[in-house]
Amino acid sequence: MMTIDEMLQANPHAPHNDSEALQMARQLHVPKDTQMAKMVPLDEFASEEDEGIEDSCGESSLGILEATLASSLISEEARAEINTLISDSQPSLDQDKTIGHFRFHWTETSEDARDNVTESEIDATGEILNQWWTRFSTDFREPKADLVDGTRRIDIDVYYRDRLHGSTSSHSNRIFLRSTSVVSDDCRRLTTTAHELFHRVEYSYGYVTGTAKQKWWVEALGSWSQKYCNANQFDYLSRVNAGFLKPEKGLLTRSYDACHFWKWFSERLQQSDAFNHEHDAVREFMEEHRTNGNNAEIACRKIVEDMGGYPSFDAFFTHWSVSNHVKRLRDPNGSTDHRFGYADASATAINCHRSYGPMRNVPYTTDETITDDTFHWVSPSLSVREYASRYVNFMVESGVDQTRITIVASGNVSASLIQQDNSRWLNVDERLAVTTHNWDLDLSSQEVSRIVIAVSGLSGGGQFHIEVNP
Ligand SMILES: [Zn+2]
Repeated sequence: MMTIDEMLQANPHAPHNDSEALQMARQLHVPKDTQMAKMVPLDEFASEEDEGIEDSCGESSLGILEATLASSLISEEARAEINTLISDSQPSLDQDKTIGHFRFHWTETSEDARDNVTESEIDATGEILNQWWTRFSTDFREPKADLVDGTRRIDIDVYYRDRLHGSTSSHSNRIFLRSTSVVSDDCRRLTTTAHELFHRVEYSYGYVTGTAKQKWWVEALGSWSQKYCNANQFDYLSRVNAGFLKPEKGLLTRSYDACHFWKWFSERLQQSDAFNHEHDAVREFMEEHRTNGNNAEIACRKIVEDMGGYPSFDAFFTHWSVSNHVKRLRDPNGSTDHRFGYADASATAINCHRSYGPMRNVPYTTDETITDDTFHWVSPSLSVREYASRYVNFMVESGVDQTRITIVASGNVSASLIQQDNSRWLNVDERLAVTTHNWDLDLSSQEVSRIVIAVSGLSGGGQFHIEVNP
């Protein structure tokens, strides 16, 4: 086990001394009077989906600062100054009430009206959090909590702060929930509570806040839990769509925008003999992480290969990258697709006046039209990062009878050729460990109107180019 000091020193995004910690604290903890002078309008989060990613959970930002306070990397003077910054950024929370496993701290009389919530909103939040407590304790492990008089207990602080809906950290037994956008919001009261409490489940599987390079599962599964707990809430789709819109980003460097990976992971592995429920593979992944020395990448690989029925993680990843393009198409018979589909792929919903879905299409790296049998084209040399994908699109004009498409790759690359019409995929050919491959295609039946090549970087990534009728 690493100490907190070692863990922070291994994280390039964490502060390592007084001045870095103070700078971070000043950015994160804006004094209450400055916040009030600014008065960000209350509807700032109305169009979340279009804005893409916002940092709506402070697990990795406020959490790293908490880890720093718990470390010996900073002086006592800096610690005292940071604690003052933190208390100056918050109203005094003069009300408290314990509901089941949660002890709430809130105010109804702050000078900044955005801090204030009602006791009935606290009661509603308490009821929901206790529901998630039971659900997580049954399906996973008990969330990390204090032990007070024989009862597991988490403190919940409710007030207003910019940018964050919620936050928590493994270095304390508290959760912050924003007054306006969560506790007073009938929808995020359901989803942000699940997200933050799920982080505390992750702590029970050995994850420590501030550990470098863990967001791809820590934040993404937090977002996944929002839907897992709430069949009718779709705010998680803004995370899913942020992922679809940036396929060129490597899986292990993702954050919330790896939500689509875990959604597919849980749905796909549910189809294997080893698992019955959607959450089973997620639980086994976290259990493996707990027992293998907290290596999430190896845990994910092992669950896919040993229990998921896939010959390799690379085969799984390649199949996923095809699915990210194919997800809203029907199968060749015109039926709903269970091989490449995602649950909710076409779902749209309005939750608390915010609209979500449907799932967005992945963007194409290049976009060409094959006009006739002699059409010739060579792509530039393209690179694809480790566990990332690129999509090369060809529209096919009617009258094209045959074409040859060649990929030449170096490094560690897989490539899949997808033939489709407007509503169905017609043929998918997935190839691992590609160096040079020719696809000779007979298009004379005229069904194929589009050909997409999904190229994925496997371990280490690679380079490739594509040629038509070389
Ligand atoms: Zn989070």
